[in-house]
Amino acid sequence: MTLIGHQAVKQQLEQTNATSLILEGTARIGRRGLAHWYAMRLNCQRPDTLEPCGKCASCQNFLAGSHPDLLFVSPREETSTGKRARNSLIPISIISASHDTGKDYEVHVLEFLELAPRYRHKVVIFDGAQFLNESAANALLKSVEEPPHKARFVFITEDVSGMIPTIVSRSQRYRVCPVPDHILEQHMPDIDPELLAFAAGRPGLVLQAEKTKAVLQAAQAFLSQIQLGLLEALSAADQLEKSFDRLLSPDALRFALRALPPQSRIKADHALETTLQALERYATPSTAFSSLALEWRAALGLADN
Ligand SMILES: [Zn+2]
Repeated sequence: MTLIGHQAVKQQLEQTNATSLILEGTARIGRRGLAHWYAMRLNCQRPDTLEPCGKCASCQNFLAGSHPDLLFVSPREETSTGKRARNSLIPISIISASHDTGKDYEVHVLEFLELAPRYRHKVVIFDGAQFLNESAANALLKSVEEPPHKARFVFITEDVSGMIPTIVSRSQRYRVCPVPDHILEQHMPDIDPELLAFAAGRPGLVLQAEKTKAVLQAAQAFLSQIQLGLLEALSAADQLEKSFDRLLSPDALRFALRALPPQSRIKADHALETTLQALERYATPSTAFSSLALEWRAALGLADN
């Protein structure tokens, strides 16, 4: 996993004795990379600098993606209704085998922690820690308070206020900040300036340059096409629906609006929020996107009646 920047946080992580950590920051900024770096550094058998050696048996396991002391937990999309996933969730069934009646998971956190580590510390990383529901957090709490075999926990979140307070109060918090442009440029000297501006310090977007550019172009095409006429606007809505990326497109659409006059931008932003909320509620996507195209035309002062 490529990690760009974040030297200051790495130094703090290297020195901490806290057994439960929260990495808080925007998506694509490098939180998962940092969590993996921390677990690798912690278990390195020859850590003579800030960086893990990359050569010892533990590091080799990490680099092969099969470290016996690392457990990575991410939210499951709830699909019980058979429709598109509505909620992300880290359920109690992944915390403890005794609650996993549907046998949904091969490995469970509490059972994983029962055995001593093969190297130095077991590390459990929770990605999307705000999706740990209350029963899951409660089942975990005793282990966070008194980690078996000196295990470590890393909770990754965009916003700590969404996490269960009992976990937050027992954890050391680290803010993961945007990476300065000049550091991103060192890793990608010929980076497109627009991509760099859109990335706004999020290396994950730069590392996936092709995908990010495609999403940006789709957003810009939508904005230009809706201005051509009503039929073109409805066809642009169809195109946007097909290429829509739930994680990236909202940001790309906001980015496309940046050149508009403030009044238009405020209205268009508002229409975008309404569309995103409608999509969350399972509204028919084609209606939501058509309505966005029409609202954006109105925001730009283009009358349709
Ligand atoms: Zn090593």
